Formats: sequence, C-alpha cells, structure tokens
Amino acid sequence: RQAQFRALRDVEPLTKDGKRITLQMNAGLLVDLPHLNEAGAEGIGLFRTELQFMIASTMPKAEEQEAFYRSVLKQTGGKPVTFRTLDIGGDKVVPYFRAAEEENPALGWRAIRLSLDRPGLLRTQLRAMLRAAAGLELKLMLPMVTEVSELKEARELLQKEIERQSKLGEQLPRKLQFGAMLEVPALLWQLDELMSEVDFVSVGSNDLFQFAMAVDRGNARVSDRFDVLGRPFLRILRDIVRGGERHQTPVTLCGEMASKPLSAMALLGLGYRSVSMSPTAVGPIKAMLLALDATKLGEVLNAALDDTRDQTPVRQILIDFAAAN
Ligand code: PEP
Ligand code: MG
Repeated sequence: RQAQFRALRDVEPLTKDGKRITLQMNAGLLVDLPHLNEAGAEGIGLFRTELQFMIASTMPKAEEQEAFYRSVLKQTGGKPVTFRTLDIGGDKVVPYFRAAEEENPALGWRAIRLSLDRPGLLRTQLRAMLRAAAGLELKLMLPMVTEVSELKEARELLQKEIERQSKLGEQLPRKLQFGAMLEVPALLWQLDELMSEVDFVSVGSNDLFQFAMAVDRGNARVSDRFDVLGRPFLRILRDIVRGGERHQTPVTLCGEMASKPLSAMALLGLGYRSVSMSPTAVGPIKAMLLALDATKLGEVLNAALDDTRDQTPVRQILIDFAAAN
C-alpha cells in the first residue's frame, strides 16, 4: 500500500465529480519538512511554531526564531507555509514560561490571549516572520481566537511591525495573508464578522470539538465519548464552511479528523475543499478522494443533517456510502 500511495504523489487531487481539493500537511520542526515532497502535499497548512519553544531550554531569541522560519521557507522551496503564532498554554507546555497554576488550563491564559498580554513576545515573533519571508509570501494565523476584536488587536501589532520594517528600509514579504484559527465555539456566532476580517480561516477541530462537546481532549475517559461524525459537530462544521462561502473567504481544516479517511470524506461532503493533515495521511486521503463523488455525498450528508427525526448514526451513513460507491 505504501508503494500504491507513493504512486499517487503526483496525481492531481480531483474528486470523481471534478472538485479540486487542496491537500496540505501539518508540521512544526525541520525534521517534518522532507515529508512535504515525499507525501506530495501542496504546502504546510499548519506550522506549529510553539514546537521550537517547547523543545528549547530557554526562550528562543529573535535571531533564532528568524533563522528557523528562514530555513522552513527555504526547505519548503516556494510551497505555501501557514505559520501559526505561538499556541502555548493549555496542553502545550513551555517549561521556562511558567505562569501561575491554573485549574482549567485549556480555558486559561493561552495562545492569542497570552500573546496579546505579552505584546513584546508576539511582536518579536511577527518581526522574525516578516524578516524571514522578505520578498516571499507570508501566511500567518492566530490560535484560540474567541472574539473578532482580538484579531484586530493582533493585526495592529502586525501593522506596527510592518511599518517598522519599512522605516528601516527592510524588504517586506511580497504578499501577506492574515488568518484565524476557529477553535472556540463563540466564533460560530461571529462568523460574518470573522469571515470579513481575515484572508482565511483554519478550523482547529481538535480544540473546537473539545470546547463544543465539553470533553477534555487529553482525557481518554471522555475524549472518545462523543463522535466527531455525530450530528452536532458536523452541523457546526457545515455552518463554518457555509459562512466562508458567503464571504468568499477560504476555509481549511487542520485538526486530526482531516487525517482519517472517513472523517475527511465527510468534510468533503460538507463542502470543505482544503484540508491539512499529518504527512502520512496524505496518500490515503488522496486515494479516498480520487474515488469520491463529493456532490452525491453532499446530498446524502445534508439530508442526514437536516433530518431531525432520523437517529441513524451519521458515521454509519458514511460507512454505507463509502461501501456502496
Ligand atoms: C486543533 O486544535 O485542531 C489544532 C489543529 O491545533 P492543535 O492540535 O495544535 O491544538
Ligand atoms: Mg488547537
């Protein structure tokens, strides 16, 4: 099967009904990067920048961050890379950055919250990214956004760094895209503001599921209790993709569910056209989509989600569809 997936590496990811799907991979360290070409991913849809911080014993200096991003962009050779700004706190522990003990770290001082409270930290990182991407394309996104106003605040800090670089006569990125991760349910009721504020949205389904279902992603007693392919979560994911369509804002999904053939299939049925996954999943997911009629699945799936009386698990409906088609 390995060889079979390798043979698909250069095959265009088109579904049977002709939908072009963008398959990207997730990464966080330089060792991940050779997988990009091996797997045949089109780019890095999620680059977890906190990993550089998590494996270091002291805070990486500005120059170290810049050099790191520079090597990432060099090694990816022009394929797009979406850098996520620091997502520390919660399940992502940075030993030398210890804040006070929190009773609910997942709901605590983390990610964009911490970045906005420590603007020096965020600005250093943004500056490192701007410098590393001089003359290139820079895509960046912020994790754990709860209110659209947080994004505006982050964008102002980015603007300050851009102005600073220009004043210094430094070359800026050729193109800059600013995005948000959708991981906190409160954003579901700000979809229109969100979609018009950003260049793209990336659904972090691991955290979104954790918060939507109130199940700790790290607690095996509850993390598998509810199905990501159940009606509540699939309806949430459908609302998001529809919100993106209303505003022509690209929506992608970079959580674990993009790596599993059945749930990735469901995403395509819901209308997702871009996903980012672990490198080893690219081959299997491509094999799945080449054989998929996404329009037909969309009809079946939408009917299942609109039916408020049918209790058949959607997972079963998807398994039956996959078997019959
Ligand atoms: C997610 O939450 O789905 C996600 C992609 O980010 P992480 O797993 O790094 O929290
Ligand atoms: Mg997350």
